[in-house]
Amino acid sequence: MSYMDKKKVICRHCGREMLVSLRAFSTCCPGCNQRLGVGDQTFTGPVTVSRIETCGSVVVAPKGHLHAHLRVKNLQVQGGRCQGDVVADEKVTIASGARLEGDITANRLEVSSGARLKGFLRIGPGTA
Ligand SMILES: [Zn+2]
Repeated sequence: MSYMDKKKVICRHCGREMLVSLRAFSTCCPGCNQRLGVGDQTFTGPVTVSRIETCGSVVVAPKGHLHAHLRVKNLQVQGGRCQGDVVADEKVTIASGARLEGDITANRLEVSSGARLKGFLRIGPGTA
C-alpha cells in the first residue's frame, strides 16, 4: 500500500497522530489502545441513529436526512437535512438548499447563501 492510500488522523482520546488506510472504518490507537472510528460516511437517504463518532468526514447528500448527534472531523451538508448536535474538529459546511437543525461546535463554519441553520454556534480554533 502506498503512502497516498493513507490519511492522517488524530486520536481524540490521547491526541496521537497516526496514518490509517483510506478504506479503514475503524482502528485501534497505538497510543492509548482505544477504538477509534476513522471512516468517511455519506448519507443519501433517511437515517436515524443516536450517535456517529469518527475522525473522518460525514457527508449528507441532497436527498439525505440524517438524524444523529455527530462527533466528526468534517461535516458537509450538501443538501437534504441534518438534525442533531454537531461537534467537528475541523469544518462544518452547509450548502445552499441544505438544512441543519442542531447546535454546532467547530473550528470553522461555512454557510452558503440559501442554507437554513437553526441552533447555537461555537465557532473558532480550540472550541471543539
Ligand atoms: Zn489514542
